[in-house]
Amino acid sequence: MPVADAKAGIRRLCILGATGSIGRQTLEVVERNPDRYSVHAVTGATSVDRMAQICLQFTPRVAVMTDAASAADLRERLREAGSACEVLAGAGALAQVAGATDSDTVVAGIVGAAGLASTWAAVRAGKRALLANKESMVMAGRLLMGEVARAGAELLPIDSEHNAILQALPPDYSEGLSAVGVRRLLLTASGGPFRSTPLAELNAVTPAQACKHPNWPMGRKISVDSATMLNKGLEVIEARWLFDAAPDMIVVVVHPQSIVHSLVEYLDGSVLAQLSHPDMRVPIAHALAFPQRIESGARYLDLFEMAKLEFERPDLARFPCLGLAYQALRAGSDAPVVLNAANEIAVAAFLDEQIGYTQIAAVIEATLAGVSAAEPNDLGAVMEIDRQARDEATRQVIQRAPRKAA
Ligand code: NAD
Ligand code: MG
Repeated sequence: MPVADAKAGIRRLCILGATGSIGRQTLEVVERNPDRYSVHAVTGATSVDRMAQICLQFTPRVAVMTDAASAADLRERLREAGSACEVLAGAGALAQVAGATDSDTVVAGIVGAAGLASTWAAVRAGKRALLANKESMVMAGRLLMGEVARAGAELLPIDSEHNAILQALPPDYSEGLSAVGVRRLLLTASGGPFRSTPLAELNAVTPAQACKHPNWPMGRKISVDSATMLNKGLEVIEARWLFDAAPDMIVVVVHPQSIVHSLVEYLDGSVLAQLSHPDMRVPIAHALAFPQRIESGARYLDLFEMAKLEFERPDLARFPCLGLAYQALRAGSDAPVVLNAANEIAVAAFLDEQIGYTQIAAVIEATLAGVSAAEPNDLGAVMEIDRQARDEATRQVIQRAPRKAA
């Protein structure tokens, strides 16, 4: 494992999704610790302005955009500014950069299934991979963890809940959770912006309301996922694979203040938790420096200033997506891939105002019922199930939004 490298020298980073919320916060931590990290490669989709700024400030050797036009635009801008950064385009270049041996640490900060192939490439190359892209773990958890073991890669979660669990587990937890005396993993959830909205008003909520998270500013897709709590469902599946935890060991606890980021309960009755202000730079800094500690830029927690910490059971009538995620996890086989794909289509349709908020769960449920395939044994099979599920979910959206989608 390349853990010891952190002491030996500067870590060379490849930041996938550098233009997004996780990417921006990773760059903030890097900026505070310039003697420890250099930015070797960055990737984005089409935000040329933001990518040009990043390239000029952090001077990576290579930048990747999703399409040729954005890449040409970026190339021209960087050339005019005197930058020598190489600019590439497309999914092939993305995976190539993620797997290239000239970086040792890859931050997987792309949103959605689009992040799977590059996460996979980083792991196969045996690197330290910092995982924000939970969708890849949901789609291919068993396969990815197999590759981690085979390639001697190191997968560290930066999703705040899983990072908290990692911090509360003993170093030898990979021997098995029962072997180290763990009884349950308790994942906290804020409950999102609609935790106490009257149920009858839910279908009228707008994308802007759904994206206004009470505690965390995030990308639009994960913000909607947090509102429906499908995000917590994805995280339950992520925890299942990251920590090899049986589904019944993983419990969701609604904690509106987002100070306790998750907890580990042990056989003797002890419960260990990780606390901090809700600031993603904390888990990002933890994973970047692991097993050392560095400054993240987050405010320090003042226990005297904190009013109270509350904990509630999740209400599955309010958050049906959470129940659907547990159902998909227990069903196994292709179901988590279908759940993820259906959700991506449903959330995009909601953000585009084609369907109402409560129809997100309905589209996912109908797609889970409408697609069935064998357990995928390789990445190609995962992508094929993803494609079928997207087709079915799109049909489900059209049935519910005949005017706009037709
Ligand atoms: P975001 O929308 O802010 O950023 C997404 C990034 O992915 C951008 O750089 C974008 O250019 C890139 N991207 C989008 N589509 C792409 C495609 N087809 N090909 C290549 N690149 C593409 O999202 P985010 O909030 O930063 O979330 C990123 C991931 O991190 C998600 O999986 C999310 O669940 C996870 N996560 C985010 C937070 C958070 O606080 N933002 C917390 C925990 C986990
Ligand atoms: Mg999370």
